[in-house]
Amino acid sequence: MFWSVAINSKILLCHECDLLIENQDICEACKLQCPRCGHVLYTQKHNTISHSLAYTITALICFYPAVTEPIMILNMSGLSQQQSLINGSLTLLQDQYYAVAILTFLSSFLVPLFRLLLLCYVTLGITVNYYHNSMIWSFRLFHEMEEWGMLEVYMLGIIVSVVKLLSMAEIQPGFGLWAYAALLLMSILSTTSLNPHEVWDILLDNKNNQDGC
Ligand SMILES: [Zn+2]
Repeated sequence: MFWSVAINSKILLCHECDLLIENQDICEACKLQCPRCGHVLYTQKHNTISHSLAYTITALICFYPAVTEPIMILNMSGLSQQQSLINGSLTLLQDQYYAVAILTFLSSFLVPLFRLLLLCYVTLGITVNYYHNSMIWSFRLFHEMEEWGMLEVYMLGIIVSVVKLLSMAEIQPGFGLWAYAALLLMSILSTTSLNPHEVWDILLDNKNNQDGC
């Protein structure tokens, strides 16, 4: 888990009080804390990249059922209706809610999928000792797109809808809902289990080796 910014591999910036701190080697499961405000900068863990890769691959496996299977099944006045995430976006498009449809599609489908693919590319490359310059911009893009991936916001929207509709109709959770919950959990774990400093250090070392520095 990581809560600081790396100025370079030797200097860290505390997120809370902006103090520059010299990076140190710490023992397994130990925490590096800011000496000024006590904020935990990171916890040292082993195999963070392989753990993150495992979570990322699991999230990618969950992705297809999460977006194509029905999220919920609605029974009202003898009529049954079910919607998947993709169908929901298409319905919004057909109803001419273009901006909402595009935003929903981007934030709950395209961006999260693209981020998972970028993370998979970088962590898989490091795991199999493969290096290409594109891994650097891939990892940078992965972080820059963070604000656009809103899986958890969509999940919150589903929960609010269910609560509001409960008094009007009978609602059954679909397989897509469980797959979506698993996707959300795996996506969070793939990011929180990763130590970005470690990834940047490895990418920088590989770049220097390739450039012959
Ligand atoms: Zn601090």
